Amino acid sequence: MLHQPNISQQVAASLAHVESLKRQLADIETARRATHPLIRILTCPWCWRALRIARLFPRAWSGNICARHERQILKQSAARQNSEVRS
Ligand SMILES: [Zn+2]
Repeated sequence: MLHQPNISQQVAASLAHVESLKRQLADIETARRATHPLIRILTCPWCWRALRIARLFPRAWSGNICARHERQILKQSAARQNSEVRS
């Protein structure tokens, strides 16, 4: 009977550990599903090209452009229009 409290303490500790692991997994899953910057980057075809991983992605490119590349593209097209007007 003396050992029983120890055993149940160990069991309780193991269960607590399992619970904390479950919570950590849930947190990772939540972060993965949320609009994590990395996930947003990976939906931007310009980022795929920048990272030289475009060939790993389907040919039908996603239309989601990240804010950084959207700005870059706007700047580029504005510069092109300016040079067309000047020439
Ligand atoms: Zn991008």
